[in-house]
Amino acid sequence: MTSFNPIYGPIASRRLGRSLGITTSKEKHCNHQCIYCQLGKTEKLYQNRTETLPLNTIVSALKNALQKTDAFDIITIAGNGEPLLYKPLAKLIDAIRNLTDKPIAIITNGALLYREDVRKDLAKADLVLPTLNGYDEASYQTMHRPHPSLTFQKHLDGLITFSHHYQGALWLEVMLMQGINDSDDALKQIKTFIDQIKPTRVYVNTPLRTPAESTVRACDSVTMERAARVLNGIAIDFLSEGYASTIEDHAEAIKSLIRHHPLHHHEIVAFLSSRHANIPKVLNTLNRDPSIITKKANGFTFYHLKT
Ligand code: SF4
Repeated sequence: MTSFNPIYGPIASRRLGRSLGITTSKEKHCNHQCIYCQLGKTEKLYQNRTETLPLNTIVSALKNALQKTDAFDIITIAGNGEPLLYKPLAKLIDAIRNLTDKPIAIITNGALLYREDVRKDLAKADLVLPTLNGYDEASYQTMHRPHPSLTFQKHLDGLITFSHHYQGALWLEVMLMQGINDSDDALKQIKTFIDQIKPTRVYVNTPLRTPAESTVRACDSVTMERAARVLNGIAIDFLSEGYASTIEDHAEAIKSLIRHHPLHHHEIVAFLSSRHANIPKVLNTLNRDPSIITKKANGFTFYHLKT
């Protein structure tokens, strides 16, 4: 019998590059039962923070994984449910930092951010990717069917409070579903909340893979483009197109992109790989180009063009 391994990947992620994943529970452990969840139905709702997997088990598995590979950009805590329900989250982040200097990201539904202890733990991560899909109590309940103690106002207040104190990068995800939260009024309302949260980035997504409820419908590309414009965000589905260029020379194409928008290392790698370029060769050219500078922020290396 093989034992459960809480480490998975590295996997290719459109937002995160090559990501080494950590899950903090063996079974699905969540305080939401989202209609669009790709993990299937939530059998039981949890709200208390517990040590769903022994901390030592996760840390030893990570040590083993790090002995085998260094070929990833980031460590991402996500996996089977909601990572903020993991009680020793702060200790886990500290332990990861002792093992590697790769940045640490956490993908969360954000429902527990109304709690100060949870905000404090989460603030240790370099990058946080929370969700905001609802625009009022009814839409929040429809989409997330949360634990009875959770409300839309708690969710929103928690996100706003966290974002105002957090020093790392905050990439907010808005998951849009046809007929549920994709109307003009819903988008306008979500935008007013985004203006209060002031995330570093907004990603607009739609459930393309099998959702928990078969009635859930993904939005079409026209809606996604409209939503990305209204929310001033990036449609995840169009990420690779977002970094397309008609310039044939790979290094020159990247220079034209970073003239307007600094890109981080793995965005450049993803762009080059979509063009089947010789990645080490182009990176070498970029690194020797005196017009390009690199800056570190939140554990990422960003490529800028000198002005
Ligand atoms: S919060 Fe995430 S894991 Fe939990 S039910 Fe929703 S989509 Fe699934």
